[in-house]
Amino acid sequence: MAKIKNIALVAHDNRKKDLIEWVEWNYSLLSEFNLTCTGTTGKLVTEAMQKKLGSKFKSTKITRLKSGPLGGDQQLGALISEGKIDMLIFLWDPMQPQPHDVDVKALLRITALYNIPTACNRSTADFMISSRLLTHDYKPIIKDYSGYIARDLKI
Ligand code: PGA
Repeated sequence: MAKIKNIALVAHDNRKKDLIEWVEWNYSLLSEFNLTCTGTTGKLVTEAMQKKLGSKFKSTKITRLKSGPLGGDQQLGALISEGKIDMLIFLWDPMQPQPHDVDVKALLRITALYNIPTACNRSTADFMISSRLLTHDYKPIIKDYSGYIARDLKI
């Protein structure tokens, strides 16, 4: 990535209020980026951005994937593996099991694999959104997996 361009936003139901408050607090800065959200989060983020930005709101800057439990987390993981997401704010619920826990784990694994900045709570999201790296060239270092791809399977 050159500058941060694409920010993904996801929140579990018990964390959606937190995320929307955070979006309302940071709407002006967020409006400079493309946002990608899982379905229900995206609906709430769109409403919040629309309310704050009024006529300046551009719906084309928000992409809504499927709802998380219906495949949205996996869609997001695929986008990360394709280099299309630069940063993830993912307020997952530490108190409730989710029907799609395996997808949540998979998404977090992919963010670790591709070394993209990932916030799982509001304070980390605050640090990330106020980082000077947001507007500077930044290329995450990705471990070289060519040895893994070329491994000898002895078949
Ligand atoms: P949702 O999905 O935004 O559609 O509620 C969030 C999630 O559980 O990943």
